[in-house]
Amino acid sequence: MSTHRTFTMIKPDAVVNGHTGAILEKIAASGFKIVAMKYTQLSLRDAQEFYAIHKERPFFGELVAFMTRGPIVSAILEKENAVEDFRALIGATNPAEAAEGTIRKMFATNIAENAVHGSDSDENAAIEGAFHFSGREIY
Ligand code: ATP
Ligand code: MG
Repeated sequence: MSTHRTFTMIKPDAVVNGHTGAILEKIAASGFKIVAMKYTQLSLRDAQEFYAIHKERPFFGELVAFMTRGPIVSAILEKENAVEDFRALIGATNPAEAAEGTIRKMFATNIAENAVHGSDSDENAAIEGAFHFSGREIY
């Protein structure tokens, strides 16, 4: 995967609260092109593997339970400087600390249920995109 791509999920809180359309609109308006997208639900095993980096953290059980609770939208996004620009668009992990106008400020519930995921490096964007999509699902 090229370095101008990032991976995102619209998390179960934002989906169940009806924010999917507004979040996709904001992503598109910010210049990101959707190159892969699906509406799906993570299994327990999927979530444990996806978030394996956090398995020693005290919130790991809560995170896995939350991320498997309902459907998500996962997508690969393309734009120059995609990883950094998308992290700026979503805002801080804790919505109470997120800047005005960011997706988490607008749509997140709290630090745990924070509406969206964004990859934190080009390397992780490639790993996460490949975890969710096969080559022929990416356009
Ligand atoms: P993401 O990886 O989902 O884009 P992030 O990179 O901003 O979020 P991470 O530190 O990678 O934040 O944490 C992964 C996810 O774990 C957070 O998005 C949130 O859902 C959950 N999380 C992080 N910190 C806490 C916490 N203190 N309590 C509960 N859940 C947390
Ligand atoms: Mg992260």
